[in-house]
Amino acid sequence: MSESTDCLFCKIIKGEIPSAKVYEDETTYAFKDINPKAKVHVLVVPRRHYANVAELAKDDPAELAHIVEVAQSIADKEFHGAYRLVFNTGLDAGQTVFHVHAHVLTGETLDE
Ligand code: 5GP
Ligand code: ZN
Repeated sequence: MSESTDCLFCKIIKGEIPSAKVYEDETTYAFKDINPKAKVHVLVVPRRHYANVAELAKDDPAELAHIVEVAQSIADKEFHGAYRLVFNTGLDAGQTVFHVHAHVLTGETLDE
């Protein structure tokens, strides 16, 4: 599915809901998390709608690799290339938005 009308992040990507953009290109959008868990907390999402990282990996592995590249470039700029990359997958793992998103946590030394 390329788009979901009820999806919060599809609305953010389309500009229907405001967000603090960090990066964008043809396939990918990155914006600040509204409730940051680190000094720099960015969400990186594919423009196309996939529910979770497993769906993305199966249907478009190149886009998943690109999301990792974008995460790396954010961390290169913010914190000498060090970062934590998290994909919460499933309700019981804390996923609340079912449009795949990489949490990029960086900008400071992180607790283990
Ligand atoms: P999840 O819990 O699904 O892994 O992550 C969802 C993330 O989206 C949370 O960290 C939450 O703070 C963030 N979030 C939820 N609603 C909004 C919003 O309207 N704008 C932004 N920028 N982030 C949001
Ligand atoms: Zn979506």
